[in-house]
Amino acid sequence: MKKPMKVVVTGAAGQIGYSLLFRICAGEVFGKDQPINLWLLERNNETSIKAVRGVMMELDDCAFPLLASLNSTSDPVECFEGADVAFLVGARPRSKDMQRKDLIEANARIFIEQGKAIDQSSNKNIKVLVVGNPCNTNAYIARRCAPSINPRNFTAMMRLDHNRALTQLAQKYDCAVDEITDLVVWGNHGNTMYPDLNQTKIGEKKVADTLDATWYTDNFTPTVAKRGSAIIEARGHSSAASAANAAIDHVRDWVLGSNDQWVTMAVPSDGSYGVPEGLVFGFPCICKDGDYQIVQGLQLTEEQKAGIARNIVALEEERKIVDELIG
Ligand code: NDP
Repeated sequence: MKKPMKVVVTGAAGQIGYSLLFRICAGEVFGKDQPINLWLLERNNETSIKAVRGVMMELDDCAFPLLASLNSTSDPVECFEGADVAFLVGARPRSKDMQRKDLIEANARIFIEQGKAIDQSSNKNIKVLVVGNPCNTNAYIARRCAPSINPRNFTAMMRLDHNRALTQLAQKYDCAVDEITDLVVWGNHGNTMYPDLNQTKIGEKKVADTLDATWYTDNFTPTVAKRGSAIIEARGHSSAASAANAAIDHVRDWVLGSNDQWVTMAVPSDGSYGVPEGLVFGFPCICKDGDYQIVQGLQLTEEQKAGIARNIVALEEERKIVDELIG
């Protein structure tokens, strides 16, 4: 048996946490031969602690062979101590009438604290996935507050947008999702995201050669970008199981590899494709040997450059707000 790895999940008693934890413990992320020491970061109030206790009781009751130990704490430094992987799901939800700026400020406090704790106590090779929104900017904040960790190790989740785009395309072209390759959703997990089919293939055929431009503009792009609201409208609750599934896909591929396939990951920019360094931006990535690389060498069209540019503007605005907060 392998040595257990330490995995931290925040927001464990939330909707996404409730879908995510059981699949992590079943071996769907790190493999069926990888035991884990699972730590849950709870908020220090009676309701939160009680809710996390309830989830822990259920995890116990599953008798997962791979769950070597299970703990919770409201002390971030203790929680992240020696952590190998962190899923940062917990975040302050957007309340009615709350502006995006207010949401960013409210969440900045959470991710500043967690970034500092990661810096202080985690394994220096920790892999961090931020799910809590605004996830790109929250990942940026945590990364800035953890100067002793390689910036590359702070990523944010755009895999749900990627998966949504895959299925919309598969339904339009009546093909299986795994026949589709080289699809990416550039930029920010927000209204400006840019689902890009310019390089996408179905089998050997390029989608761009037969693309229905009206469908792409009027149907595909808004469906992908507004899917979260459509699910809330239909279900009365936000997308939780599909978000948990995307978190699993993201971290599993990062750790175990993406089999030479493109996956969308929001990662700190290294300047690729003109994206300012440090912005946590959705790029096409390939994962191998526990690492990811941004796909290089794409010849971008004017349309692609514009799609990327509008996301740079959106994320630069958010960066300005949080840079002032972090100082
Ligand atoms: P829930 O409202 O069900 O759960 C939120 C969790 O966050 C709870 O565990 C809650 O803790 C915790 N939380 C709330 N406020 C704070 C705070 N001030 N400090 C620390 N933790 C807090 O939300 P979901 O599980 O549905 O979603 C979690 C996050 O994921 C949201 O930010 C959501 O917008 C985001 N999301 C991101 C997606 C993506 O594609 N990137 C897709 C879908 C969702 P407690 O139990 O103590 O109340």
